[in-house]
Amino acid sequence: LTQLYAPLNFLGFVYREIKHALADMERMFGLMEQGEEVADRADARPLQTSQAAIRFNNVDFGYESNRQILFDVSFSIPAGKTLAVVGSSGAGKSTLSRLLFRFYDVHSGSITINDTDVRDLTQASLRQHIGIVPQDTVLFNDSILYNIAYGKPDASEQEIVQAAKAASIHDFVMSLPDGYQTQVGERGLKLSGGEKQRVAIARTILKNPPILILDEATSALDTRTERVIQDELRLVARDRTTLIIAHRLSTIVDADEIIVMDHGRVLERGSHRGLIQQDGRYAQMWALQQSGQDPDPPSDGGDAI
Ligand code: ADP
Ligand code: MG
Repeated sequence: LTQLYAPLNFLGFVYREIKHALADMERMFGLMEQGEEVADRADARPLQTSQAAIRFNNVDFGYESNRQILFDVSFSIPAGKTLAVVGSSGAGKSTLSRLLFRFYDVHSGSITINDTDVRDLTQASLRQHIGIVPQDTVLFNDSILYNIAYGKPDASEQEIVQAAKAASIHDFVMSLPDGYQTQVGERGLKLSGGEKQRVAIARTILKNPPILILDEATSALDTRTERVIQDELRLVARDRTTLIIAHRLSTIVDADEIIVMDHGRVLERGSHRGLIQQDGRYAQMWALQQSGQDPDPPSDGGDAI
């Protein structure tokens, strides 16, 4: 009987672990109540690449059938390049990252990675290839260690500490009585917006994915910490296909392409220099931010990916 019991016990363990991970994932993205169904196709294939070229082709989308959010959005990000998305709050920027991660399917048009429609890929493999630093990070009710190692469960302690250092969170963690074993989340230590953001950045650095989504990733940080982490993120983003949603335009002047979103449409596109020359919305936003009169400060919280 014991011979039979051991494997059963093990299966139970695996089952609990998987359930735990799935529940975490759904909680993280607030999908629990929405019951959003994005299922793998029977013949879905795993994505396997270290070089991902991303395309949005004439994408229309709305969360509710009576309210369209994205209108005919097209752009491409060649493998290893960086596309920055700017625009006022509510323009549909975060929605682009949710569609790329495939929390939802487009209503018309398509999103492809290396010319394969994301609807033809397994969700698990798609999400393994993407690291997200969302606008508002929701931590799992678990240790800081678990929260950082989430993207790479087999990471060594050394790798975890290295990632934490790169995200400027290691010293803070070491100052806590329980260090990396400190319980966080709803039932544990409440971290500030900036601390949560740094945990998410450490997680992403550790995961080391070919595709990076940074959604106002440093908006909750003070200016000095932001500068340090921006430098680190620039290193992480190098050679990775990166979608960066930015509020502070000074952080994206080097992007290969910038698109300006307005009410769900692409209003302008080009390089920083090109857009300044175009003297349109982007040039206007740039002038306002340079003069310090920013009418639309970054949102803090309440807007999880
Ligand atoms: P941005 O990131 O540019 O500020 P979002 O992409 O988050 O804008 O949101 C675009 C629009 O979609 C907003 O009007 C927002 O209210 C709406 N929206 C976002 N998430 C949802 C949702 N889960 N259900 C319904 N509407 C949503
Ligand atoms: Mg947003």
